Amino acid sequence: MNATSALETLRFDDRFRRELPGDPRTDQRPRQVPGAAWSPVSPTPVASPEVIAYSAEAGALLGLTEHDAAEPRFAEVFGGNALLDGMEPYAARYGGHQFGHWAGQLGDGRAITLGEALHEGQRWEVQLKGAGPTPYSRSADGRAVLRSSIREFLCSEAMFHLGVPTTRALSLVSTGDRVLRDMLYDGNPAFEPGAIVCRLAPSFLRLGSYEIFAADRDPALLRTLVEHTIRHHFPELGEPTDEAILAWSAEVCRRTAALMVEWLRVGFVHGVMNTDNLSVLGLTIDYGPYGWLDPYDPDFTPNTTDLPRRRYRYASQPQIGLWNLERFASALALLGLPQEGLVAGLQGYVDTFRATYAEMGAAKLGISEAGPESSALWEDLLGLLCRAEIDWTLFFHHLADVQPGSASDRVQAIRPALYDEAPEGLADWLQRWLDLADDRDRMTHANPKVILRNFLVQEAIDKAHSGEMGAVHELLRRIQHPYEPEPGWQDFARRRPEWARHAPGCSMLSCSS
Ligand code: AMP
Ligand code: MG
Repeated sequence: MNATSALETLRFDDRFRRELPGDPRTDQRPRQVPGAAWSPVSPTPVASPEVIAYSAEAGALLGLTEHDAAEPRFAEVFGGNALLDGMEPYAARYGGHQFGHWAGQLGDGRAITLGEALHEGQRWEVQLKGAGPTPYSRSADGRAVLRSSIREFLCSEAMFHLGVPTTRALSLVSTGDRVLRDMLYDGNPAFEPGAIVCRLAPSFLRLGSYEIFAADRDPALLRTLVEHTIRHHFPELGEPTDEAILAWSAEVCRRTAALMVEWLRVGFVHGVMNTDNLSVLGLTIDYGPYGWLDPYDPDFTPNTTDLPRRRYRYASQPQIGLWNLERFASALALLGLPQEGLVAGLQGYVDTFRATYAEMGAAKLGISEAGPESSALWEDLLGLLCRAEIDWTLFFHHLADVQPGSASDRVQAIRPALYDEAPEGLADWLQRWLDLADDRDRMTHANPKVILRNFLVQEAIDKAHSGEMGAVHELLRRIQHPYEPEPGWQDFARRRPEWARHAPGCSMLSCSS
């Protein structure tokens, strides 16, 4: 007799649906849904769901094993063809500022939350991305292509292992259906294989989830959502009084500031920092046209749509984080909260960012405590890195090995991180660093060796398109050990090869996912 699958014993609770008003309609037709926080909607079945990648560690969060993932039932559920007992699926309603402009109602256009799973005292929102149309799909199809699903699946797990707050990815399921996309936005749409990622988070609530009710001029519903958020996701703040709401908005600011520092530390560029893509829990969410720094370049934006203005460039992320939080604070003002309180929260963003950023720089440089000297050394380094093509990740990795010696010995130690000639001043800078670095152990966990380099994902995607998933699985293993990698890691820590400099998917990504 077969043991009951852990899948069938998963428990769900529809708390969000229970506590917040929903859309009375049940069809998928695109529409405005005022007065609601969600719409009931089921995934649209796909032709032949097949699990092509699975994160055992994310599965363990729900009490699932590889054995469960191998069952046909798993592919049916996480491909959107079947629901488990207790699942009450819905699409969430939210709005957002996109590229600096209020865009009105957006909502889960292709994400469907299956339910909130309960396991060992934890609660995980279980969400499919690419599971078909919802009332928020507007004119789009609600689907996702394989390439972007591989990117979200791998990057969620890479960020987690880097220690950066993030949503998780449980599974990657190919659908057997084709999806039409104009990948380069050049008028040449083509059919691509479709896929669905199952992602997990305590909640996918975003800044835009609150903004929409302010835009609706619906303070009662805004308050209900804020109270729900504080009660369940920030219980340490106590009863959601006005005072607690201000403390909560300040905490959202601090968490976002800390997240921005983490992105800068590992060289991550989100690419679409619209307010609908910023988590209220301070998690990295919505992996789209993101990218990683190869050579240090403060102007780097991976998103082709962002190229004209570079609003979401690497170095602007902290500033955009603040801009987004200002929109969030304006939305909360509708609750009649004192403006000074909201402004104090925003000031907390600036203060947290400054302090955390200084400490991050000191840690990456192996200096025991941040101070004016470490900050000056850090700023001079960024200036130096701009003067030549120098790999962000490899620079810190090789820095840890620099020993006192001649100027040319010092530069030689950094050579593997250089794409071209060493910039003038590098040897002197390295000498200053040698004089200040009093805690090199600090560098080990501040400086990853293996990151999800753009070209590595693209190579894995190319192989997946010819039916070979081995490279995705190998990358998943490698990104699980970014700081103290397993033998053979050097191949996954290479400088960007020349072919990837301008290749689509490596240096440029569109939103057509
Ligand atoms: P994003 O920039 O990916 O965060 O998406 C912005 C908005 O567009 C969100 O409301 C998404 O749900 C929606 N969206 C993006 N792609 C699709 C798609 N293929 N089908 C339906 N809605 C989509
Ligand atoms: Mg989004």
